[in-house]
Amino acid sequence: MKKLIKSFLILIAFTSFAFISPKNKVLKQINVVIDAGHGGEDFGITQDDLSEKQIVEQVITKIKAFSKNKNIVFHFTRSTDKFIPLQDRTDFINTIKPDLVLSIHVNASKNNTTSGMEFYVSKESTNYEKSNTIAENFQTKFLNSNFKVAEIKNANFFILKNSEVPAVIMELGYLTNEIDKKNLSNNNEQNQIAKKIIECIAELK
Ligand SMILES: [Zn+2]
Repeated sequence: MKKLIKSFLILIAFTSFAFISPKNKVLKQINVVIDAGHGGEDFGITQDDLSEKQIVEQVITKIKAFSKNKNIVFHFTRSTDKFIPLQDRTDFINTIKPDLVLSIHVNASKNNTTSGMEFYVSKESTNYEKSNTIAENFQTKFLNSNFKVAEIKNANFFILKNSEVPAVIMELGYLTNEIDKKNLSNNNEQNQIAKKIIECIAELK
């Protein structure tokens, strides 16, 4: 009987290991560079008393605050209101070689009815395919959370072209649109965006 219990315990131990091992595979460390656009004397888009540099800084501060996942290591090209040239940003990115660089911006249009989130990738990037897949995952996640998201666009922005890793530019919305402007400057809405970004990053493979 004792022997039977022993074998039973061994069996349980093996079964538990069988459940643990695939989980361990998922727990790979994810390195991400978050690039807050503009900064310092470069305000980016401005509308009334709001500026792009300020909104993206607020969002990245929230990403920092909300990220409790020990498997994600965040690196920031700037975390203060400082001007950093694009070349310095890509030099930093290419030194770190993260799994993704997510550059965060805010949009503007002459047409004040244009609104919603947009994702950009570059066909000139050596990591175009991977970048596009990641942008699609982000797009789906945000669409499923009732954000208005446009289709993924192709653009040869400096960060996208010159980062030697998967790179996506995320335009959070249009400061020139009244509803977007209200949302972009809203604390709860910014919280949601930051949390959703962390969720998307946690699912990077
Ligand atoms: Zn910008």
